[in-house]
Amino acid sequence: MSEQQRWDLHMHSTHSDGTFTPFELIDEAKRRHLTGIAITDHDTFSAYTEEVFTYSKKQGIGLLVGAEFSTVWQGVPVHILGYGFVLDHQGLTDLTKWHIKRRQERNQAILEALKSYGIEIDSTMLHGRAAQTIGRPHIAQLLVEKGIVSTVKEAFDQWIGDGKRAYVAGASVTPAETIDLIHRAGGAAILAHPILLKKRRWIRELLDTHNFDGMEGHYAAFLAHQNEEMVNLGKSRGLIITGGSDFHGFDKPFIKVGSSYTNEDEFEKLLQACQKWKK
Ligand code: AMP
Ligand code: ZN
Ligand code: FE
Ligand code: FE
Repeated sequence: MSEQQRWDLHMHSTHSDGTFTPFELIDEAKRRHLTGIAITDHDTFSAYTEEVFTYSKKQGIGLLVGAEFSTVWQGVPVHILGYGFVLDHQGLTDLTKWHIKRRQERNQAILEALKSYGIEIDSTMLHGRAAQTIGRPHIAQLLVEKGIVSTVKEAFDQWIGDGKRAYVAGASVTPAETIDLIHRAGGAAILAHPILLKKRRWIRELLDTHNFDGMEGHYAAFLAHQNEEMVNLGKSRGLIITGGSDFHGFDKPFIKVGSSYTNEDEFEKLLQACQKWKK
């Protein structure tokens, strides 16, 4: 009997706010006997270089193209996972460039908000980072390094988390526009970690009014009964059910690579959806 396939389709690398390089993520996937992974950095797919594809092949780890896009729907932040899109699509590449600019402006505004509370962070320290996508987790790390707070979580809870003192929403793009661009780039669009949306009504409304191919039903940070509820919700709508860990490395030490995954059947459906959008 062949071994069951396990694809961890949600994790972050040093190209956004993860602490592992793409190569280290592949090593980690191998150590945990996964079939394959997708590296879903925030608003970028710069992890997908020739070298990384070559390395995954050498290690025998499948590598599906992916990214996690930030959107805002009726004031609510919504993350959308895109999979299997072509990497040189102009519209999707332009979207990633727009996000870089959006983040520069927003990060600056957050630093100014912190400054109004007497916390000085030099913006060159933030932008001196190697990542393509710089965001709140990087600001949180600097707050820890400066001794303002003792953990990244505390930085979010006290300062820069949604709605907190130094929170800035900044510019945004809608889920509808993002889903459309993913489809046009020949990829599938999946609603990420639906339970983080807090209100069940929002999840249902989002799914009913948008052209999602699927939703993330297995997510490491959720309880078993929450995952079950989400899987049932997705299945009742005929959606593909994906799973992933949302591994970030040392910032979220309790989440391991492979702690949630996509099974072979759902992975096959995901590939079929990508084929459909490529026609
Ligand atoms: P940004 O894209 O710059 O708005 O940052 C969002 C990212 O920050 C999320 O994807 C998480 O990785 C991280 N994050 C959000 N809230 C928290 C929190 N309360 N504690 C730790 N990390 C968080
Ligand atoms: Zn993140
Ligand atoms: Fe997310
Ligand atoms: Fe994520």
